[in-house]
Amino acid sequence: MTNFNEQQFLADDEGNFGAYGGAHLPPFLVEPIAEVRRAYDEARLDPEFMAEYERLLRTYVGRPSLLYHAENLSRQLGGAKIYLKREDLNHTGAHKINHCLGEALLAKRMGKKKLIAETGAGQHGVALATAAALMGLDCEIHMGRIDVEKQHPNVLRMQLLGATVVPVDEGGASLKEAVDSAFAKYAEHYDEYFFGIGSVVGPHPYPSMVRDFQSVVGREAREQILEAEGRLPDVLVACVGGGSNALGLFSAFLGDESVRIVGVEPAGKGLASGRHAATMTLGTDGVLHGMRTRVLQDEAGNPAPVHSIASGLDYPGVGPQHVHLADQGRVEYVSVTDDQTLDAFQRLCRTEGIIPALESSHAVAQAIEMAPTMSPDSILVCNLSGRGDKDIDYVAEVLAARG
Ligand SMILES: *Cc1c(COP(=O)(O)O)cnc(C)c1O
Repeated sequence: MTNFNEQQFLADDEGNFGAYGGAHLPPFLVEPIAEVRRAYDEARLDPEFMAEYERLLRTYVGRPSLLYHAENLSRQLGGAKIYLKREDLNHTGAHKINHCLGEALLAKRMGKKKLIAETGAGQHGVALATAAALMGLDCEIHMGRIDVEKQHPNVLRMQLLGATVVPVDEGGASLKEAVDSAFAKYAEHYDEYFFGIGSVVGPHPYPSMVRDFQSVVGREAREQILEAEGRLPDVLVACVGGGSNALGLFSAFLGDESVRIVGVEPAGKGLASGRHAATMTLGTDGVLHGMRTRVLQDEAGNPAPVHSIASGLDYPGVGPQHVHLADQGRVEYVSVTDDQTLDAFQRLCRTEGIIPALESSHAVAQAIEMAPTMSPDSILVCNLSGRGDKDIDYVAEVLAARG
């Protein structure tokens, strides 16, 4: 068996994944981000830093998370054995806590006092505020005024965790303005602040750093499937917003040619509807949030409005490593619609007694497509990136409207 060379998928010293990635920054952010890069370059080679990170994953997050054989679902579909990597069982209910703890630990090592970030739906803000509380750091989360109103429970969570939520009124008062506002504040105060990015996106070193902090997911899954089945899986499936839970799972298997790897994007109301966030499928090359990547953009190069039933997936860009992995033919990217996602959500609830996040339900929907086409002795591992408690009111509303 010829193996892929894992190295070919990693970034060079400047953070370039082939033609993608890098650090494309306005002058006022060059030095703040360079400082993060130097600090992470040292920290990742420091055994004490990594040991402390791993200790927190064990004692605070509750790792390792289970690799659960979904026997009912597998039997019902008739095909591959489906295993779910249960990131929904982590403290705070999703994979985001993995990299937020890593970022908070790095901030502390750098002598920073405060974590700053933007958040859209609020999931990243809550995970970062959690890490800040644990580490004794202050936390400031910028949020578009519209999102503050829409995401009230997450605003309350952040405040209970001790974070300051800063509503942003400029422009459209949503995520884009929150990003600009948070970066402006950061650049002014980077002697005290550390910027926490919520996925494998942004300028170098963030795409590599966040992937490294998430790679525990794949390392565990690999060990767990070898223990349970005595061999590697045939297929991996994970949803892709920015792409951190996906790279977390995928990174431990990139060198194994026998493992087929599939990333799942939101097709929203359908790829032809214009209401989706299928960046890998329909995006074009551009620069967004400090990285060269694939972007859903209009002719003037402005990020296009995006839609997904899962708020954690509606991002007009994607992590640069994903584009590189697609170009190299290592990972396939497909999309599933809101309707397929809702069906998968309900099916997992009823067959396995697990309420998945709507983001994760995209991966489940793809598993439901693929498993019946595979032989009964084959193995599919699906990343269940988070739990769906946050989504139940919305799902109930949509189902009621459907009648
Ligand atoms: C934020 C989020 C995602 C999307 O982010 P990625 O960086 O693509 O992983 C997926 N699932 C859940 C549960 C999330 O909260």
